[in-house]
Amino acid sequence: MPFLEHDPTDMSSFKAHLAQSKRILALCGAGLSASSGLATFRGAGGLWKTHDAMSLATPQAFTKDPSLVWQFYSARRQAAFSAKPNAAHHALAALSIKNKDFITVTQNVDGLSPRAGHPAEQLFPVHGSLSTVKCTSVFCNYVEFNNFEMALTPSLAPQPADATEVDTDVQPPNIPLEQLPRCPKCAGLLRPGVVWFSETLPADLLDDIDGWMEKGPVDLCLVIGTSGRVWPAAGYIDQCRLNGAKVAIVNMEISSDPALGGVADADWLFEGDCARILPEILEPVIGTMDQVKEILGDQHDTFPAKTSQGGVSPEFIAASGEGRGYY
Ligand SMILES: [Zn+2]
Repeated sequence: MPFLEHDPTDMSSFKAHLAQSKRILALCGAGLSASSGLATFRGAGGLWKTHDAMSLATPQAFTKDPSLVWQFYSARRQAAFSAKPNAAHHALAALSIKNKDFITVTQNVDGLSPRAGHPAEQLFPVHGSLSTVKCTSVFCNYVEFNNFEMALTPSLAPQPADATEVDTDVQPPNIPLEQLPRCPKCAGLLRPGVVWFSETLPADLLDDIDGWMEKGPVDLCLVIGTSGRVWPAAGYIDQCRLNGAKVAIVNMEISSDPALGGVADADWLFEGDCARILPEILEPVIGTMDQVKEILGDQHDTFPAKTSQGGVSPEFIAASGEGRGYY
């Protein structure tokens, strides 16, 4: 922990500030979903231990080896769709419902916040979503949101647990292009609807966040489960500060190096599991977790029920903000 003049772990001063805060922005990263059992991006397991996950999340990697990249993303989709939202997702969803001036900018692509009942109009998934697929053809604009199929094609069927759990030298098979996900509109190759390294973030979402930022002073910035080092997270923390916000960081490990995310300027530092800390520190607004369940109602732990037509239920599409993802 870095040295601060006040006690940065003091929960009562945070709660007092939260209680009188109107405009709040939360920035979320992988740590938010850690206790849902999802490996962080850099810690992909099993078959993928022998691959550098960072090097698979680029347009160049997809062009070079779409079979390999699709198998990596298929495994990530299956892990995300099998996981459940945790108490931290529910706490943030409840805060959104209680406070319409609260927005959440998330770097997570796992879709657990929408599934926890987080209102779509207050959620900005700036890195896209694993449940979105889109066409790679230059002349085609096909985008599909809320695709929760465990296997997009038979060739991408889930691997048996023993193939993905153990550290193995087995290489993923080379799937022919025609057996990878294809566009129903133009038969071109589909790709995951996530933002890869070197790609730009969705401009419509950034415009909406800027619009919110310009509306007036910000009271509080919550930095949750992220080091805050990655753009745009780092920029938003600074912008909130300039707009008057106090900053609270909630993370499993809080770096003491001020160069890594401006931690030294934070007003509060809460170190530990987000799923334990968020319900506790947000309690003055959201109440107990029993009350949170009441606030979320039917949205609590929602998962897209397949309709008889095999699609996703219209209720879920409405709740998760179709049209709001990556383009
Ligand atoms: Zn197409």
